[in-house]
Amino acid sequence: MPMFNGRFVQRLVVLTGAGVSAESGVPTFRDPDGLWEQYDPMDLATPEAFRRDPALIYRFYNSRRARLAGVEPNAAHLALARLQREFAGDVFLVTQNVDDLHERAGSPQVCHMHGELLASLCGACGNKRPTDQPFDGASACPACASRGSLRPDVVWFGEIPYFMDEIEARLADCDLFIAVGTSGLVYPAAGFVRTARASGATAVEVNLEPSDTASLFHLQRRGPATEQLPALVAELLS
Ligand code: NAD
Repeated sequence: MPMFNGRFVQRLVVLTGAGVSAESGVPTFRDPDGLWEQYDPMDLATPEAFRRDPALIYRFYNSRRARLAGVEPNAAHLALARLQREFAGDVFLVTQNVDDLHERAGSPQVCHMHGELLASLCGACGNKRPTDQPFDGASACPACASRGSLRPDVVWFGEIPYFMDEIEARLADCDLFIAVGTSGLVYPAAGFVRTARASGATAVEVNLEPSDTASLFHLQRRGPATEQLPALVAELLS
């Protein structure tokens, strides 16, 4: 059975945040982002913002979606995919990211708790559909043909993240919890470390700097995810 930090580990939960994609060129919410620097991204990620100024929200998400085509997975995404394929146990990957870089790195399972940029959701019929195309208030839902009902299939502040039952069950049954590139400011993800620890898991944080919940982790791996994760994965697979 694999060992880590002097303990047997078999069931892993890995939580990733914007920091894992930062070195691919996808800006985090805290990075300066030329295109949108006049807005606080938090103000572009709420249902109220969508009701207030849908054209602005469509432009924001169309721009983010289009920019995905120009970025590639980095060594951190690749290391996690390797861990999922080669670890002699279970690795559940849950991401707050709405990009598709884990999938493109070859991860066999990715739980997108905040939804996906490359998908639309119809407010009229509930249809979810993959798309890499821009859409706006004039676009028709491919399923029910209604216009003005499509929105990005992303979870906004104030909405309930996806797959919470499965995530909570995995956290309650893991022996190692790893959080990568997440600020610890956005709940419920910021609370996952507490749930994992309550079930006896060892908790490891990988981040450039201490997150808001850093004190809850047993171990800190400080530095860029592209350096720290390949090293941590090599340790787990050795
Ligand atoms: P965040 O922007 O709040 O925090 C990013 C964290 O990553 C910070 O703690 C920072 O220190 C760390 N970080 C930055 N670069 C790093 C690197 N190279 N290596 C290791 N750590 C690094 O992001 P969050 O905690 O994920 O939460 C904010 C919300 O932003 C989430 O809901 C997420 O959906 C959304 N978001 C997603 C994307 C994406 O899909 N790629 C991008 C921006 C924001």
